Amino acid sequence: MSTLKQRRSPPPSPPLSASSSTATAVSVEPAKDDPTPIDLHIPDNYVEHTLQTTKPLPPITWANFYKEINWISFPILTLTPIIGLIGAYFVKLRWETFLFAAFYYYATGLGITAGYHRLWAHRSYNASRPLQYFLALVGAGAVQGSIKWWSRGHRAHHRYTDTDLDPYNAHKGLWWSHIGWMLVKPRRKPGVADVSDLSKNDIVKWQHRHYLSLILLMAFVVPTVIPWLLWGDAAGGYVYAGVLRLCFVHHSTFCVNSLAHWLGEAPFDDKHTPRDHVITALVTIGEGYHNFHHQFPMDYRNAIKWYQYDPTKWFIAVCQKLGLATHLRIFPENEVKKGQLTMQLKKLRETQEKLTWPSDNSDLAIISWESFQEQSQKRPLILISGFIHDASNFIEEHPGGPHLLIKMIGKDATTAFFGGVYDHSNAAHNLLAMKRVGVLHGGAPHGTEDKAIPPSQRLKIARYNELSSAYGSSTAYSDGEGMLG
Ligand SMILES: [Zn+2]
Ligand SMILES: [Zn+2]
Repeated sequence: MSTLKQRRSPPPSPPLSASSSTATAVSVEPAKDDPTPIDLHIPDNYVEHTLQTTKPLPPITWANFYKEINWISFPILTLTPIIGLIGAYFVKLRWETFLFAAFYYYATGLGITAGYHRLWAHRSYNASRPLQYFLALVGAGAVQGSIKWWSRGHRAHHRYTDTDLDPYNAHKGLWWSHIGWMLVKPRRKPGVADVSDLSKNDIVKWQHRHYLSLILLMAFVVPTVIPWLLWGDAAGGYVYAGVLRLCFVHHSTFCVNSLAHWLGEAPFDDKHTPRDHVITALVTIGEGYHNFHHQFPMDYRNAIKWYQYDPTKWFIAVCQKLGLATHLRIFPENEVKKGQLTMQLKKLRETQEKLTWPSDNSDLAIISWESFQEQSQKRPLILISGFIHDASNFIEEHPGGPHLLIKMIGKDATTAFFGGVYDHSNAAHNLLAMKRVGVLHGGAPHGTEDKAIPPSQRLKIARYNELSSAYGSSTAYSDGEGMLG
């Protein structure tokens, strides 16, 4: 098992040889028959530059709302629920139609999640032509724009997450990221994102060309005709499997942009808004592990644990078994775990910073043996592992009884403390370190350096700059001097 796990991690790359820096640069120009990626020559400060030099449309107010309406998506998004509700009032729901509507919800939803999203926007696996046609068709039934338009916006969303170049920027609030961005004209052009790969895909082009006929066929005709032919319920099919199902698919996908950027945990990176949550997964056919997804967008999975709800991943895996999908991409587990570890350490560091720690060695006064003896007359000082401790507030609290402490005042209790009389627990070691008031001149007489570190500090979380300041740089210096000499 462990060897299997190790194999999944990539071997470390060999170090660069000195000659590689002088090697001829590899040309990044595309081949002649390829269209040049649109983002090949953008300036290095593209995001900042674009935000500063291009003006957004004015903010939406009640006064300008009607002028700013997006006349393609506004009617689709508002009329669908209205027609659906009116229809449901007049048409009785039959159980056969209900089951078919649920099935058709998953089919058209998968067109978006497994097709538009994971296949075309992220290229997380390769699909055979029959599977691509199937996904392009059912995806059209979700009425969310063509594959090309959708993927272009989604690639901008990933590249410019949480900025104004992200078409559904989550920082503009839940309403905006859920649906607001489609009700009005885009306030800005989304940031540049290359879709030249999709421009070359003939199935993507075919869907784009016939998009209007395909949405009418897949969103309304098919879900009306099937219940009509099989159990004679054309009206129910239209209302429940057509219109209301479409409304559910819409809001299910929209939740990926709203809910998944708002609700839940950030186990991989908390720099941006994407979050992981099972509720989001349940309403989005498995797209709810969005913190993972934004970290590893080329991974065909959203949920990495077997028990997490990700039917889109299961669908792709089944397609692979059937020979319809290949090259399912998985990010190296070793790198995924690094992200998780970083976030876990960050949380632990916060806990660590909330606690009070013993004084540092350098903050403590160095006391001679004579001074220690003298001061022990005035307060209960006890020497352990080279540190002088003040037991003032603890003598009565000592679980073993005060007499064991009193007899050690002005003496070295190292042996007794470390198992000679009682082998003290972690808690005792930690508490003892809090009572340090000085260091005995001459260091740790018992050679108990290791013991002088309380258990709670042996695995302390340190930032990289805290580590390097200790002695790393001075060693490097002396090595250099040695070489010069
Ligand atoms: Zn997102
Ligand atoms: Zn995505």
